[in-house]
Amino acid sequence: MAGSGALERLRAANQRTVLGLLAGEGPMSRADLVRASGLSRTTVSSLVADLIRTGQVTETDDRARPHKGGSGRPPVQVRLSAPAGGVVGVDVGHGHVRVAVADRLGTVVAEDHALVDVDAHGTEVLDRAAAMVRALAAQSGLGSELQAVGMCVPAPLDRRSSRIRTGIMPGWQGLLPADELERRLGVPVHADNDANLGALAELHHGIARGRHDVVYLKVASGVGAGIVLGGRLHRGASGIAGELGHVQVGEDGPVCRCGNRGCVETMVSASRLLELLRPAYGEPLAIDQVLSLDAEGDAGVRRVLSDAGRTVGRAVADLANSLNPELVVVGGTLGRSRSLVEGLRASIDRYAQPDTAAALEVVAGELGDRSEVVGAVALAISHVASAT
Ligand SMILES: [Zn+2]
Repeated sequence: MAGSGALERLRAANQRTVLGLLAGEGPMSRADLVRASGLSRTTVSSLVADLIRTGQVTETDDRARPHKGGSGRPPVQVRLSAPAGGVVGVDVGHGHVRVAVADRLGTVVAEDHALVDVDAHGTEVLDRAAAMVRALAAQSGLGSELQAVGMCVPAPLDRRSSRIRTGIMPGWQGLLPADELERRLGVPVHADNDANLGALAELHHGIARGRHDVVYLKVASGVGAGIVLGGRLHRGASGIAGELGHVQVGEDGPVCRCGNRGCVETMVSASRLLELLRPAYGEPLAIDQVLSLDAEGDAGVRRVLSDAGRTVGRAVADLANSLNPELVVVGGTLGRSRSLVEGLRASIDRYAQPDTAAALEVVAGELGDRSEVVGAVALAISHVASAT
């Protein structure tokens, strides 16, 4: 009968709604699903029961926080079941390699970290990363079940050639990092840059969860942005969207490593800020000391970091006028500085359209120096998901 076909289609559509919510929001109680889906309690419990029976959804041990004024035990949550197999995230930074093995939902089950001089030694670093992946995968029992590897490289990648754009990392000249690692591991490897992966990490596992239009800023030894539009990472025609560090803020400024003058990055990189502080503090400061001084309210440090935030904020305000994002997440080493985040906010309020600024929240990232490896895991999962 036509009637029963229509009911089945409706039930399938409702199931997709529930699965979509769990995929986007993570574990939820049945009551949360009722609220978020607009479906009735009876429908939600029957759908969840079916999904548990077919193994697509499982009940978790973590319980949701009880509602205000509520009494009794907090409700049980349900989550998507992890499909078989695992993925790996590899983060190659300028001075470290970090590896994380995760299940297909992105839950990290093992992690390792090594300090290495990355920029000068491409081949050796890739050997080392491959060895770390093999050891960690074997240790977590996923050795033969790896389905994909996501990889972070600390430089813009040309999406068409997969080559690192040269000049920044001399030891990587002409190398195709993903192909090289794939050859060593025998598992598909997908690479992206640190700012894009930071954006994916905060979107799927951090403070930007459930948001749709987000700019993730990485402020560290360089400055870059990962742009999320309509819930998806926007990479641009050749994969290098979000090069915010090379927006010009002073035509007669210092020469940048990109060959231009007065780029944002020449004004606010960690090394530039340390140089600015040096005359006043006598000895060279380390970035951790600078961040502690900022937290303690040191006037000189606060001034320099707040000005750096304002400089980046000038470029972010222009970007916000074009994209109208709802959230700016500040990550990278300097994203931990409250003064920098405040300076950024002040510049956005000064230079963006009032309605654009009012709709925009500025927050520090949640994942800290794990954001790249968590993003690499999310990248690997997105490739497994799109292949099945
Ligand atoms: Zn530049």
